[in-house]
Amino acid sequence: YSDENQRILEASEWLTKLYHHLLRYTKDGKEGYNYFQDRSIQDETIDVFQLGFAPNTKDFIVEFLEKKGFNKQLLIKAGLVSERDDGTVTDRFQGRVIFPIRNHLGKTVAFGGRAIHDQGPKYLNSPESELFQKGRLLYNFDLAKRHIRKENEVILFEGYMDVIAAYQAGIKNVVATLGTALSESQAKMLRRYVNDVIICYDGDDAGQEASFKAAATLRQAGCKVKVAYLKDGSDPDTFIERHGGEAFQDQILRASDTYMTFLMRYYKKDYNLSLEADKLNYIQKVLKELSMVESSLEREYYLQELSKDFSMSLDVLKEELETIQAKYG
Ligand code: ATP
Ligand code: MN
Ligand code: MN
Ligand code: MN
Repeated sequence: YSDENQRILEASEWLTKLYHHLLRYTKDGKEGYNYFQDRSIQDETIDVFQLGFAPNTKDFIVEFLEKKGFNKQLLIKAGLVSERDDGTVTDRFQGRVIFPIRNHLGKTVAFGGRAIHDQGPKYLNSPESELFQKGRLLYNFDLAKRHIRKENEVILFEGYMDVIAAYQAGIKNVVATLGTALSESQAKMLRRYVNDVIICYDGDDAGQEASFKAAATLRQAGCKVKVAYLKDGSDPDTFIERHGGEAFQDQILRASDTYMTFLMRYYKKDYNLSLEADKLNYIQKVLKELSMVESSLEREYYLQELSKDFSMSLDVLKEELETIQAKYG
């Protein structure tokens, strides 16, 4: 780290401790503490993730950090405080619960702040900087690493709360992207540690769309991908809060789809399968994807599925697959 970045890390460290202290031990932070209690987050979990609370003040943080000897320009550059039009500075996060974002070495390089009432954007993050690039960092990667190695598998979520809920339920090989599409660099980061990835995004349409993209990026990086699916459109954190970690493990993770099964489900929504033409196009599309599957065992398996799905003879499907293979292979 450069001298300046070193100083920014120090300021971020102070701020992490302050936010956390306020949440955990003060009357001003009670609001934030209650918020996490309402979401069933326990004290121990709050401590592990150093969750905090930014009070509803204009310059409490500014003053605190200046007293610690950090100058305004540095704090602005670090995105820890915001600059007003008139050049004065103000606290960036006001009246929000705080998620410190650690890099792969465990150093806080940014903060996520979540609104606890329905005001302003739901999440506000630190701006990107030399130290914090959303596309190059995975939330919780530092703590998850050894569990990923042990389990030989990683579970990829969309949000902080999903990671925290899973971790609290004892599922610790978990990381999340920070509201952006999974980047090539993040996929490579995972691939260095593990082969098998379970994508477990939100059950809504946006989550499914993002799963499709993330799966492609991960396969490009050489990972074996499975996709978990929350049928009722809920978030992993909500599911875990309602049904517990064991149910999540059994009903969601263990039931996750192979990449091909996910694709077959995913492509279906683009077609009206009661129409003959759509049905044929769909089958063509799946077969094209199948033609790229290396294992003949797997190819056979999914051909059977297709054959059952559309009451078509296996021989015809095989013939069509071979034609496609000859064309694209
Ligand atoms: P919660 O359970 O608290 O409602 P979530 O984690 O389910 O939150 P999502 O809305 O699914 O939140 O978003 C997933 C992730 O995307 C968040 O954890 C956050 O990192 C990021 N994100 C969401 N909204 C924003 C935003 N307005 N600005 C920046 N990042 C955001
Ligand atoms: Mn969502
Ligand atoms: Mn959620
Ligand atoms: Mn979510």
